[in-house]
Amino acid sequence: MQITRVETFAVPPRWLLCRVETDEGVVGWGEPVVEGRAATVRTAVHELAELLVGRDPSRIEDHWQVMTRGSFYRGGPVLSSAVAGLDQALWDIAGKTLGVPVHVLLGGPVRDRVRAYSWVGGDEPAEIADAVAAQVEAGFTAVKMNASGRMNRLGTVSELSHVVRRAEAAREVLGPDRDFAIDFHGRFTRANARRLLPLLAPTAPLFVEEPVLPEYTHLLGDVVAAAPVPVATGERLYSRTDVLPALRSGIAVVQPDLSHAGGISEVRRIASLAETFDVLVAPHCPLGPVSLAASLQIAFSTPNFLIQEQSIGIHYNSGAEVLDYVVDREVFRFHEGHFLRPTAPGLGIEVDERAVRRADGGTPDWRGPVWRHDDGSFAEW
Ligand SMILES: [Mg+2]
Repeated sequence: MQITRVETFAVPPRWLLCRVETDEGVVGWGEPVVEGRAATVRTAVHELAELLVGRDPSRIEDHWQVMTRGSFYRGGPVLSSAVAGLDQALWDIAGKTLGVPVHVLLGGPVRDRVRAYSWVGGDEPAEIADAVAAQVEAGFTAVKMNASGRMNRLGTVSELSHVVRRAEAAREVLGPDRDFAIDFHGRFTRANARRLLPLLAPTAPLFVEEPVLPEYTHLLGDVVAAAPVPVATGERLYSRTDVLPALRSGIAVVQPDLSHAGGISEVRRIASLAETFDVLVAPHCPLGPVSLAASLQIAFSTPNFLIQEQSIGIHYNSGAEVLDYVVDREVFRFHEGHFLRPTAPGLGIEVDERAVRRADGGTPDWRGPVWRHDDGSFAEW
């Protein structure tokens, strides 16, 4: 079998899909994207495609090595995301060729269902309580919320207590048998995070995410030491070597993104590395259907998996939705807040190719917002 063609599709709300075709008619799908940089990644995918066309798609690891290391300069979100999408598509082809789901190729299922969390929004405690109650009603056993909007470098008393009151509101609705996670989104300085983390301890979050920016991973150990709650990070780390210092710092949960961190091949290795640090894996996935499908293949085959992020029906996906691009929506149906095991070959979904082709290029590329502090200086989003 030979790879004959690689196509890409930029689709709303902010995703890029790739389609890898073979001379035997087997087609694989991937989702190579960095949010806000879809066009840049698209160019990288087509550059990398030169390494694949005419080759045997079953040599996934060899392709990963050549794509990742073959151009001397390596790493970073754009290249690692381009590789990630193509890697997903190669695994999809391998599974479809052999007639088995990818997680069977990875050693078979280690669990029967995968716990997922849902995002909740709301600026005020009452809004959070309502949003959490709606997700509990929908059957979810866990939710995630942002800690704050724009945050001063050293938060005021009212800014910090506002975060705590929203966490308290979530805990009150959830009770002791459900969970919430809270995402600092890299908006906090180290000092600010160290002040806030102990205040959140009584609300017992499942984990606190990105308490500091990934470029301060060398400070993470200091933050973890001040945190009486589990710390998570990883959506902006792109390889085993990126993740290693975070693991050494004592985090509890690592969150590689299947579309950013080198795909199924590298996330599997990150999960295995994390296992040696007794760290759990919660794949980051605010993205589209192929990324979610790839995440589930990892979730079902990874012993130290914790919980899966997903964005089905989420408020910030305007113009299109995860389910708009799949034929078989049943794969992504929740059962008491869990995904059931996908049994179809490859990534386990059937991409709605007509819908993807129709949507391609239909909207301008999404851009991350630029926030400012009150004094006009740049603020982290
Ligand atoms: Mg996050």
